Amino acid sequence: MTFIATRSNMKSLLLTEYNHLEIADLPLPDIGPDEVLVRVEACGICGSDVHGYDGSSGRRIPPIVMGHEAAGTVAATGANVRGYAKGDRVTFDSTVYCGVCAYCARGDVNLCDNRQVIGVSCGDYRRNGAFAEYVAVPQRILYHLPAGISFAEAAMLEAASVALHAVNISEAGGSETALVVGAGMIGLLTFQAAAAAGCKRIFVADIDPSRLERARQIGAEQTILAGADLAEKVRGLTGGQGVDAVFEAVGMNETVAAAIDSVRRGGTVTLIGNIAPEVKLPLQKVVTRQIRLQGSCASAGEYPQAIEFIAAGRIRVGPLITAVAALEEGPRWFERLHSREPDLMKVILTPRPTESQ
Ligand SMILES: [Zn+2]
Ligand SMILES: [Zn+2]
Repeated sequence: MTFIATRSNMKSLLLTEYNHLEIADLPLPDIGPDEVLVRVEACGICGSDVHGYDGSSGRRIPPIVMGHEAAGTVAATGANVRGYAKGDRVTFDSTVYCGVCAYCARGDVNLCDNRQVIGVSCGDYRRNGAFAEYVAVPQRILYHLPAGISFAEAAMLEAASVALHAVNISEAGGSETALVVGAGMIGLLTFQAAAAAGCKRIFVADIDPSRLERARQIGAEQTILAGADLAEKVRGLTGGQGVDAVFEAVGMNETVAAAIDSVRRGGTVTLIGNIAPEVKLPLQKVVTRQIRLQGSCASAGEYPQAIEFIAAGRIRVGPLITAVAALEEGPRWFERLHSREPDLMKVILTPRPTESQ
C-alpha cells in the first residue's frame, strides 16, 4: 500500500434483500497486492443490475453492492501495482478474467473459464461493486482515463465496448449497407460503432418514433419505423437485396426473424440482444441463403478503442445519459428502471454529487 486511507468506513448502496436497496456504511474494501482502490466518481446502472435487483437473474444474491460501469480516481495501490498513482483518473472493465485459461490465451477474455464480474454475487463468487465511495479492482482490468472524457461519460464505456465488440466480431466494418434493429442504448451505440468502423449506409429501425428521433440526433440519417414489414422496407431500400450486415439489439422472435429476412444472401446477422431465452429459427432460410449468425457477448479488449472513440467524439454517449443522480437516489432510480418507465436510457449514480461531473 502506498497510501493508507484516513477513514475506515464508506457510504454504499447495498442490496440487502431482493427489491430493496439502502444506503449503508460498509468497511473500506481491502486491496490485494495486484489491486487498486478506486475512489468512485460515477457508476452506471446496467440492465443486468436491474435484472439482478429483483432476483430474476440469480446473479446479485444479497447482500451485495452492485455496479460495474464505473470511473473514478486511484485512492491506493497494492504492492505489485505499477503505472498507477494516487489521484490518477481511471476506469475499468467489468469483466475480471483470469489471464491463464485457454480462452484468455486466445484473447477471448469475455469467454474466460474463470470469468467474474465486478458487483456480482452468484453461487460461485461474490465481488462488491462500485455503487459505493470506493471499490477494489485488479490492475489487469484498469485503464487510464483521458482528461477529455468526463467520469459520467466513462460510465458508458462498457456499453460502448459491447457495441464495438459486436461490430468487430461481425467483421462488418466497411460494409456498404447495414441495419441496426432496436434503437435502445446498445442499438444506438452499435450504430455509432458501425459508422466508426466504416459502414456506409446504416439503417436504424425501431417501433418507437421517439427512439428514432434520438437516433437522428446522434447522426442516423436513415431511420425506419419498424413493423411487420421491416424486412420488406429494408429490401425496398437496397434494390431488393437486403443489407450486408444486420445488428440485432433486441432479441425476440419478431426482431430476429426480421433481421434474418433483412440481410442479403451470404450476409451476417450479429445477435446482441437476448430478451427472450429462445427464438424460432427459420432454418431453411439461414441455410439456403448461407446467412452467418454470429452471437456477440460483452467485450474482449475493446476498452482502449472505446476510450479513444469517445475522446475523439466518434462515439457520442452524452445523449444516451438520462440522469446523473446522487447515490442516495439510487433506490428510486432502480424502481423506475425496474418498472420499465418509458424512455429511460443510462442512469448514472455518483457518491459525490456536489464535487464531480
Ligand atoms: Zn453492464
Ligand atoms: Zn481466463
